[in-house]
Amino acid sequence: MSLAEEFAIVDELSKLVLDMLMLSKPPDVPERFASIDSLQTLHANLLSLRDFLSAAANGDLSPNINFKGYIGGTLKMLQANLRHMTWQTKMVAAGDFTQRIEFMGDFANSFNAMVIQLDLTLKEVMRKDAELKKTNTELLREITIRRQAEAALLESEEAFKTMAITDSLTGLYNRRHFNHRAETEISRALRHKRPLSVIMLDIDFFKRVNDTYGHHSGDLVLQMVANILKESLRSSDIPARYGGEEFIILLPDATAVNAATIAETLRKRIETATVKGEKCTIKITSSFGVNDHLAKASSKSTEKILSEFIDKADQALYLAKKSGRNKVTVYNNTKGDGGSLLV
Ligand code: GH3
Ligand code: MG
Ligand code: MG
Repeated sequence: MSLAEEFAIVDELSKLVLDMLMLSKPPDVPERFASIDSLQTLHANLLSLRDFLSAAANGDLSPNINFKGYIGGTLKMLQANLRHMTWQTKMVAAGDFTQRIEFMGDFANSFNAMVIQLDLTLKEVMRKDAELKKTNTELLREITIRRQAEAALLESEEAFKTMAITDSLTGLYNRRHFNHRAETEISRALRHKRPLSVIMLDIDFFKRVNDTYGHHSGDLVLQMVANILKESLRSSDIPARYGGEEFIILLPDATAVNAATIAETLRKRIETATVKGEKCTIKITSSFGVNDHLAKASSKSTEKILSEFIDKADQALYLAKKSGRNKVTVYNNTKGDGGSLLV
């Protein structure tokens, strides 16, 4: 074989290797060189190298590297490093911020800095979250305390309001509140030309109850009378304890006849009721004065009209007492005698 022929074969084999490196579709070993084992091995290694590089370029690190030696070893190391880095990234994603890449130069530095920053940021976020939760819990506790205080305040305000208008012994309205309500009802009755009545009730010989059975028994009697009033009257009626053993009832929309009927019912209930003392049973009676004569709305103040209105009931009550007690008397203006007996 001439030198020129040998050069031609070397040139052909070099081109084959170059084509293996350069072309997208790798050439096969020409038939006439098929028996050369080293050429077949070189061809197979270059194919394997191509496969690995192509897969790695597309992010696939799975292909096996089938050839040994320097390039095979280097590629295996690169593949192992890339696989390890992939695993480390997964670990970071799962929250392990201790991962550090010790190879890959600048990429490793940036990756490590990113993981450190992530770690710091997450710790800061968690710290702020804990702070927020703490603040939130404190706020909630404060809101609860304030609400409780508000509720207690409202409750005590209500209790004070009730206390201010209530007679503590009997639970009925007190005289001051009665007067206040009565003035409102008088104005309403005069404005709408509606009837309005008042009943004065005084326990007969109450002093004797105290003297005979003691002050405490006297209190029980007062409570018994108050309870009879509470049970017997309509919700629109306004009963109150007017003085010691005197009670007063305002009856909106009731004439003297209506009021006297109610007073009579009360009288009978009180007469038949009993109070159990320590070693005795106490029975009492009571006298009633009824009035529905209301001065016309004129230059008189409502306060004055009220005082005259009650005074007439009181005059009727006085007459009931004078004529033997345990009676209902209605004030009669026409006779001018302060009242007439109903019963
Ligand atoms: P009359 O039939 O004329 O009304 O005679 P009375 O004894 O009921 O009238 P008097 O005004 O003489 O006596 C009223 C008594 O009521 C005198 C007072 O000690 C008693 N009293 C006033 N307030 C209370 C009280 O809150 N509790 C008790 N137990 N007694 C009271
Ligand atoms: Mg009295
Ligand atoms: Mg009395």
